[in-house]
Amino acid sequence: MPVYRNIGEFLEFINISNDKFTFFEWKPSQSFRRFDLDLNIVRENETADIFFHKDKGNMKIVYIRKNNLIYTVGSSPEVQFQLLEALLEYIDLKFNETYDVEVILSYGNFSPNIFDGFKETTKDILANFAELDLVKRIHIECRVCKKVLPLFVKKSFIQNAESYPVPIVYVHAGHATLCFIDQDFHHRGVELVNITG
Ligand SMILES: [Zn+2]
Repeated sequence: MPVYRNIGEFLEFINISNDKFTFFEWKPSQSFRRFDLDLNIVRENETADIFFHKDKGNMKIVYIRKNNLIYTVGSSPEVQFQLLEALLEYIDLKFNETYDVEVILSYGNFSPNIFDGFKETTKDILANFAELDLVKRIHIECRVCKKVLPLFVKKSFIQNAESYPVPIVYVHAGHATLCFIDQDFHHRGVELVNITG
């Protein structure tokens, strides 16, 4: 069963906040872990509209700042970053469909409980994630691993591209491949690339 069918089982948290407060947080029902330190680091990054990734070894974090809100997700390491980005894009869409966030935040004394109803929405999103069809699975051959590997790409990334094929770097098992994906979600070549950083 691919990870994305049961993505909720691999997640540590989903958080929606601004620079000061958490407005909404989802965690697995048995989890009492707190992620304040990670969220404080995320809040220090003022760059908007770009997805950022953190690989903490035992946990991956993806976050994006959009319109003064910061969306963050933490997952176990086997979930590919593109799946987490697709999830946050959809959470952002649904959150703004459900709430007029700007109006709510303009109330002087609003209470974060106002967003509690979004827990049900989040549960539904996680349960039906595969059916939402936000992600494509592409098979690529890695000549270092000497096998065919599943590469997940979010559809929005391919569909919103300015030209094709679109390059994506797939970092795995201590090395990286550069893959070119065309508009039909087929790969048009895979190269081994060097990494630094
Ligand atoms: Zn490989």
